[in-house]
Amino acid sequence: MEENIKKGGISVETEHIFPIIKKWLYSEKDIFLREIVSNATDAVTKLRRLSSLGIREAQDESYRITVTVNEEEGTLTVEDNGIGMSEEELTKYICSIALSGAVEFIQKYENENDGAKNGIIGHFGLGFYSSFMVSDKVEIITKSYTDAPAVHWTCLESGEYEMEAGERDGHGTSVIMHIAEDEKEFLSISKIRAMLEKYCAFMPEDIYLVNASESDADKESNPINDKTPLWQKPASECTDEEYKEFYRKVTGDFREPLFYIHINADYPLNFKGILYFPRMGNEYESIEGQVKLYYNQVYVADNIKEVIPEYLLMLKGVLDCPELPLNVSRSYLQTNTYVSKVSAHIVKKVADKLCALCNNDREEYAKIWGDISPFIKYACMRDKKFYDRVKKSLLLTLTDGSSKTLEEYVGEEQEKTVYYATDKALQAQYISMYTMAGVEVAMFEHPIDTQFASVLEQYMGNVKFLRVDADVSDALRCEGEFVESEELKEIFADVAGEKVTVKYDALKDTGVPVILNVSEESRRMEEMMKMYNMGGADMTESTLVLNSSSALVQKLCDMATSDVQKAKDIAAYLYKLALLSQKKFSSEEMQDFMKDSVDLLMKL
Ligand code: ADP
Repeated sequence: MEENIKKGGISVETEHIFPIIKKWLYSEKDIFLREIVSNATDAVTKLRRLSSLGIREAQDESYRITVTVNEEEGTLTVEDNGIGMSEEELTKYICSIALSGAVEFIQKYENENDGAKNGIIGHFGLGFYSSFMVSDKVEIITKSYTDAPAVHWTCLESGEYEMEAGERDGHGTSVIMHIAEDEKEFLSISKIRAMLEKYCAFMPEDIYLVNASESDADKESNPINDKTPLWQKPASECTDEEYKEFYRKVTGDFREPLFYIHINADYPLNFKGILYFPRMGNEYESIEGQVKLYYNQVYVADNIKEVIPEYLLMLKGVLDCPELPLNVSRSYLQTNTYVSKVSAHIVKKVADKLCALCNNDREEYAKIWGDISPFIKYACMRDKKFYDRVKKSLLLTLTDGSSKTLEEYVGEEQEKTVYYATDKALQAQYISMYTMAGVEVAMFEHPIDTQFASVLEQYMGNVKFLRVDADVSDALRCEGEFVESEELKEIFADVAGEKVTVKYDALKDTGVPVILNVSEESRRMEEMMKMYNMGGADMTESTLVLNSSSALVQKLCDMATSDVQKAKDIAAYLYKLALLSQKKFSSEEMQDFMKDSVDLLMKL
C-alpha cells in the first residue's frame, strides 16, 4: 500500500508562498470561502456545459454545492458534484501553482493596501490555497466525470502533501478544510452563513449550507443563494415589484427607492447591473459604498469609487462586470480604461434616466425632485459633462409649490434673471411683490442652491440669479408723478446709518412703504465667508428703498417738514419693519422692536 502513496511538496517556492498566504491575506480572510465555493460553482457549470454541448451524455441529476460545518470534527467542507479532477489534473492544477514572479510581485506591493494583496490571489491562481489562511490541513477527495478513479489528496500548511486512491460515489470534489486552532470562528454556522450571504448570494449554482450536528430533518432544504439574480434578466421582463423586492434584498432598506436603472451594456463594455436611487431623508452621512460589484455573480467588493464616480456614490444596487478580474486591486482599477468606460457609461445612464423621467412622467419626477435635487446639483457642480446631459431636466420649484424646468423658465430669452427666495415666511413681502407683478419666484431652500446658482451662471452665461430682496427690478416699478422729499430721505439716512444707501423708487405694490435690499454679490460673498468661517465685519451693501407710490411715504414727505419729530419716529419704525422682513431678528433686536412699537403707540 505504501508504494501507492505519492508524496511531494507543492513546489520549491512553497516555503515562501505559504507563510505569505497566511500573513499577507490576513485582513481579508473571509474571501477563502468565496474562492473555494466559486471553484465548486465553476466545476458544476463546466459539467453542465459539457452536457449541453453533447460532449457528455446529459443525465438527470441535480447539480449542487454543499457547504458543511462540522464543529465536532473541526472541519469546513465544500462539496460539489461537478466536473471533478483526475490524478493528472489534480497534479497539474493544484500541486503545481504558477508561482513564477509571485514572490517578486508580493515584494513590490509590500506597502500597498489590502486590495493589492487580494490581487495576488487572483493574479497567480492561488484561489484554492487561500483555504490555508484558516486551515492547518486541507484534503481534496475528487473524482472526474470521466472514468478516472477517485483521488484523495492531503496537504499540510507546510506545503507537504500526500496523494492516494480515494473513495467517492459520484463525480465531483470535496474540499475538506481542517480549521486551525486559532481560526475556530470559521466553525460557527452563523459566521459561515453570513459569509455565504455576502460573497455567494448570487452565484450561479445552488449552494446549500449544512450544520453537521443537526439531524437530517432539521437541515435546510433551500439553497442559500439566488442563482438567477434580477440583473441577469432582460429589463423588459422585470416587473416593478421585482425591482423593489430585489432592492430590499440587496440593500436591506425597506423604504422604496426613488427610481432605478437597469443597465445591460453589451459589446464592448459587457456589464450588467441595477442601480437604485434611494430615499434618504436627511441621512447624507451614510451614503457610501452601497453598490456591490460582482464578477459573474460572484461578489467582489462594495467599495468601488473607481467604478462609480464619487458624486453618484449614494446609488445603491449591483454591478456585474465579467471583464474585471475576480480579485481587483485598487491600483488596477485606477488605471484601467475599461473601468473608466464603465464609469462613464453609468453616468450617462443615470442622466438618461433623469431626462426620461422628466419628459415622460413630470408629475412623478416633480415629486421626487426635492429628494434627488441636492445630489443632482452636486453632481452637476462636480462634472460639467453630467450637467450637459441633465440640464434639460433641472427643475425649479416655485413658491406656489409647482415646478418648471430651468429651460422653461428661461424660455427663448437671450438674457434672463431667475428670481429666487430662500425663506418663504421671512421673504413673504418680497415674494408677493414679484408674484403680483407676474414674475415667478423659485424656492432655493437647500444650502447647496445658492452655490449651484453661481455655477449655473458660469455654465449658462446668459442667466443671472437674484434673490427677491437683492434689488428692485423693472418688473416691480410703476409709472407716475410722486413727491420725493429730500428731507425725508435724510431722515431715513439718519435712521439707517451711513452704510445704507437711501433712494426713492415707485413700486407697483403701493402697500409697501419701504424695503431693504442687499446686493446679491455682497450677500453671496458674505455667505461664502461664513462658510469658510471668515466672517466678521458686515460688508453687505444695503439699499433702503422708499416707495414713492405708497400713500404713507407721500404722507411722510409732507410730515418731514411739518412735523419732523413724528416723521423721525415713524421712519425709525418703518426701517425696523424693513429690517424685520430682510433678516431674522436676534432676541435683543426683537425686544427693542417691541419696545419701540409700544413707545410709538403711546405717542398716538
Ligand atoms: P483558479 O480558480 O484561479 O484557476 P485555483 O487555485 O482556485 O485557481 O484552482 C486551480 C484549478 O484547480 C482550477 O482552475 C480548476 O481547474 C481546479 N479546481 C479547483 N477546485 C476545483 C473543483 N472543486 N472541481 C474541479 N476542479 C477544481
